[in-house]
Amino acid sequence: MAKRDYYEVLGIEKNAEPDQVKSSYRKLALKYHPDRNPDDSDAEAAFKEASEAYEVLSDAEKRSNYDRFGHAGLEGNFGSGGFQWSDFSHATDFDDLFGDFFGNVFGGGRRSRGPSGPPKGRDLRISLKLSLEEITEGVEKKISLQRMKSCEVCDGGGAAPGSTPQTCQTCGGVGQVQQVSRSFFGQQVTVGACPTCHGEGRTVSDPCRECAGEGRVRDKTTITVRIPAGVSTGNYIPLRGQGDAGPRGGPAGDVLVFIEEEEHDTYTREGNDVIFRLPISISQAALGYEAQVPTLHGDVKMKIPEATQTGRVFRLRGKGIPDVDGRGIGDQLVEVLVWTPTQLTSEERRLFAELDEIHQQRADSEGKSFLDRMLEAFS
Ligand SMILES: [Zn+2]
Ligand SMILES: [Zn+2]
Repeated sequence: MAKRDYYEVLGIEKNAEPDQVKSSYRKLALKYHPDRNPDDSDAEAAFKEASEAYEVLSDAEKRSNYDRFGHAGLEGNFGSGGFQWSDFSHATDFDDLFGDFFGNVFGGGRRSRGPSGPPKGRDLRISLKLSLEEITEGVEKKISLQRMKSCEVCDGGGAAPGSTPQTCQTCGGVGQVQQVSRSFFGQQVTVGACPTCHGEGRTVSDPCRECAGEGRVRDKTTITVRIPAGVSTGNYIPLRGQGDAGPRGGPAGDVLVFIEEEEHDTYTREGNDVIFRLPISISQAALGYEAQVPTLHGDVKMKIPEATQTGRVFRLRGKGIPDVDGRGIGDQLVEVLVWTPTQLTSEERRLFAELDEIHQQRADSEGKSFLDRMLEAFS
């Protein structure tokens, strides 16, 4: 496939200042960095493409050759080693890139990265269901999980006790090999991870029998995670270095605990507020009463005033969910629902009939129907 124009790759003009070259590359590198896009070969390709463009456009001599002759103008430079972009997919830390990057920009000389070392262990994603009560209080949970742990027999190195890992014969310990190919424009050199040692620079000739040279074994364990109050679905708690151990002494991955809020049968959550629906009788609505209302912080007494209409909402301050960032606490909203009795007893029927008669007389004397008064109340 034909190479894209380097200026186009970085999204800059032909006359872009070095500062612009740097800042465009920085943006792309942040976006496509393999640590942020695991197992995404498109992102990796984009990352390498941007790195290559930056490599050329940040170097005055290469840039001038490229400006005059295009990609063909750079081919001759490859004999001495070609592009030195590294296989960042094995970089253990995102900051690594910027250490290298600023080293390049401000330090002048290019640093060679050397072997990438054993890869990092996997991150483990765990889903944790929490009740609204647990979310309100904050909670400590024990989680059982299976993960790879460092092998105790070989101390994670993968070599049988008494032996040591060898420098890789294929790459001489560098971790990278060059491949030379001929293209229409001439010789092209690409640098890739060494196929023998996978970029680690070392091989194990006498593997540990406990772990078959992996340096790690399966393990079942229980970890404790402290969940702060106020979390919600989609939040996650990272536990650094508690995931799978990396092979042959590589750094451990993380455990990511994803919060899943269980649906509550009494409350509906809305941000840090909770909504509670309180059914009351017609007579309670008319006369008013002192209601006992459940909240996430225990029962509270609450005055329902006389002549309360259905749908009216009362606010119980500070009875909601604490803000996850520590900025205050939500409220409980109490929505009153007036309940119409069903299956009346004869006594109730008689009393309601009497009440209805009184309403009629009042309507006649005031010249206003019951319906008029209801419409007034709800308007
Ligand atoms: Zn072992
Ligand atoms: Zn090698």
